Amino acid sequence: MSAPVTAAYRDTLVVATTNRGKLLELEALVVGLPLVVRSLAQVMPDPPKVVEDGATFAENALKKARAAAQATMMLTLADDSGLEVDALDGRPGVKSARFAHDRATDAENNAALIAALGGLHEPSLGPNPARFRCVLALIDPFSRNPEARVVEASCEGAITRTPRGSGGFGYDPLFVVAGMDKTMAELDEAEKNRVSHRARAFAALRPLLQDVLRERAEQMGRLERTA
Ligand code: IMP
Repeated sequence: MSAPVTAAYRDTLVVATTNRGKLLELEALVVGLPLVVRSLAQVMPDPPKVVEDGATFAENALKKARAAAQATMMLTLADDSGLEVDALDGRPGVKSARFAHDRATDAENNAALIAALGGLHEPSLGPNPARFRCVLALIDPFSRNPEARVVEASCEGAITRTPRGSGGFGYDPLFVVAGMDKTMAELDEAEKNRVSHRARAFAALRPLLQDVLRERAEQMGRLERTA
């Protein structure tokens, strides 16, 4: 796979997600880079469905990135993320989106989390240590190195049983960020994008993304010189 990237989609970064919250956050994080963010559904009418059955966030992120990159042949970013609660032995973990049931809403998952904590033998009313994790996988199908570039980051905090705030998505109203007296849902978009697991993972990805863009610019320069 070393053909030159087509001009029409040269500046597009496809985000392999149907989660609007993730898409909005990643769009804001990409600002400043010469890329236009599009969801998979925006570039393909019938995107491939991926079964997220990996045992780790990294496995699922890779699966999603590979399927989308193969289908679109565009620069592709996949995010697999979730919440790990110590008192629940790391659950909901990779099943975060489906903790209540397979097609659960955020509200149903939050209710299931509170119920799971309430069902512990010694329900602790104090803080329940937890963390959000995020794995980002980037694939450039036209790179000399079409393997995925993978980064991971987390954000520590604790679960409160009383939801607070209306920002963000998912478990944000139940997650009190370590060192802040606020839930993730009480942060504004810019604040969440400074401290979140996704923001930290994107900070690690940024130099790798810049390498990809440099490589592409060199490739285009070579093409123009030989045209
Ligand atoms: P995925 O689409 O399989 O990666 O599942 C992600 C799920 O993890 C989401 O549906 C949320 O339940 C949870 N999650 C991931 N990131 C966040 C976040 O930033 N805030 C709140 N919940 C999140």
